[in-house]
Amino acid sequence: MSLSAVNGALSNLKSCLADIATGMDIVTDVAIDVVESQGKHSEPASFSLETMILDCDIAVTQSQVNFTCPLTQVEMLKPVKNKKCNHYYDESAILDLIKTKRNLKKKCRCPVVGCENTDVKESDLVLDQILRRRIQNQKKKNSKN
Ligand SMILES: [Zn+2]
Repeated sequence: MSLSAVNGALSNLKSCLADIATGMDIVTDVAIDVVESQGKHSEPASFSLETMILDCDIAVTQSQVNFTCPLTQVEMLKPVKNKKCNHYYDESAILDLIKTKRNLKKKCRCPVVGCENTDVKESDLVLDQILRRRIQNQKKKNSKN
């Protein structure tokens, strides 16, 4: 990497950081997008300058995030994240599905289309307070419009 390339990357990063500084919500957007992009591609996490800039750009341009539960097709009230595949579901919907499958003596497949996780367990689910807050913020924003 030449010095000018480093300088160019740094100035990109600076403008990127300025965007992030516009609000904590965007910072959490970046964090969530990093997690989500790791879930989609099962590549090892790499945090080079380039990917940081890329993730930042994606976070800034994609302000509309999908808050819809893959099971209920409505906005999640209590989003839980699957630790194994990083997919989100509404807590009551996924717990119901796990219970139903258990009664049928079947494993609960992740309901997200294309997901390879065929065994969703209650113990893999973690309540995502950040996403919950973001959904609530989004609702507030929408109700103002
Ligand atoms: Zn999944």
